[in-house]
Amino acid sequence: MTVSSKPGIARNASPYLYGQEAAAVARILASGQYGHSDVTEEFERQIAAFLGVPDAVAVASGTAALHSALLAAGVGPGHEVVVPSMTFCATVQAILATGATPRFADIDPATLCVSDQLVMEALSPATAAVVPVLFGGRAIDLSAVQGELDARGIAVVEDAAHAFGSRTGTRRVGATGALTCFSFGPIKNLTCGQGGMVIPRTPQEADTIRRLRLLGVTQSQNERANTTTYRVDGFGLRYQLSGINAAIGLAQLDHFTTTEHTRRSLWHTYRDALAPLDGVRLVDVDADHAVPHLCQIRVARRDRVFAELRSRNIAVGVHYPPNHLQPAFAAWRRPLPATEQAGAQILSLPFHQHLTEKDIDRVVAALGQAIKSAGDT
Ligand SMILES: *Cc1c(COP(=O)(O)O)cnc(C)c1O
Repeated sequence: MTVSSKPGIARNASPYLYGQEAAAVARILASGQYGHSDVTEEFERQIAAFLGVPDAVAVASGTAALHSALLAAGVGPGHEVVVPSMTFCATVQAILATGATPRFADIDPATLCVSDQLVMEALSPATAAVVPVLFGGRAIDLSAVQGELDARGIAVVEDAAHAFGSRTGTRRVGATGALTCFSFGPIKNLTCGQGGMVIPRTPQEADTIRRLRLLGVTQSQNERANTTTYRVDGFGLRYQLSGINAAIGLAQLDHFTTTEHTRRSLWHTYRDALAPLDGVRLVDVDADHAVPHLCQIRVARRDRVFAELRSRNIAVGVHYPPNHLQPAFAAWRRPLPATEQAGAQILSLPFHQHLTEKDIDRVVAALGQAIKSAGDT
């Protein structure tokens, strides 16, 4: 059975199903295990085994993963959290949800990621955590400054929403010792429909997040079934991953080798096709190690190129308009020249597993024409 539609170049991103997901969901619907369940815990075990880590804690979304991880790292009111402005707004909202405030950092223009130097420049006495964003799937190595961050009691909470499956050296992202957050939203490298995962650094962090995700109630269903009450041990939210969503993730994980291979090879196809085009700079995701999430370029007159491609029904996108320029985050605005320049030039080409090589050729040919006509007008 194939359940995948063929969105082609008219979609910028799209989930890719392998065909077993629907049956897996049907089994959960028949079993009644809709909420947090054995299936959720099996998904946690399989993700931990896949990454090569002792534990993984499933939550409802990538945003919930970031919020929970920051709380588990002790972040709260009065604290600052260093975060690149160049990220999805979810990263910033998760920081604000703890009561802390964002301290926006600039990026390396070649990778759209923070560097250790940019992180160190953004620290203040109030900094409680740093949230590097693994942009496009690219792993970030902060090991050169890890000792100093540790000495100052600053936690590193990785936003690896783009980077499930990516590696640094031989280790997968999540297995490098950081507190790591994944998103399994609809268009991420692996999808649960909606979902997220935290890779804790310690058993205490894991316990904290497991309590938090179930409204602060730690007793199991079985324990609760035999008493007339239940116990609330602390602050909590409705952040668990449903069995329905976990079943989708388990089915996707079975095929991740294919996902990894396909995404990497699509990215390389784009790279080779784009190479002869003048006026295009490819954002480097380190595709030999990453499982690429985006294929992004930088072009002059971006808005005209964008409009021209959209008028040809080629679904280009912009990841992302800088957060420090958003009205909601204006209180924390400061000059970030590399981010602002990137924000005006970045363009995400259609990138998902339904694409064929022919689709990519069409996108690149249209891009060449769009750049020409944007220059002429
Ligand atoms: C998707 C995403 C998130 C949030 O994940 P959700 O599962 O959508 O809540 C956070 N950060 C980045 C960079 C993302 O792309």
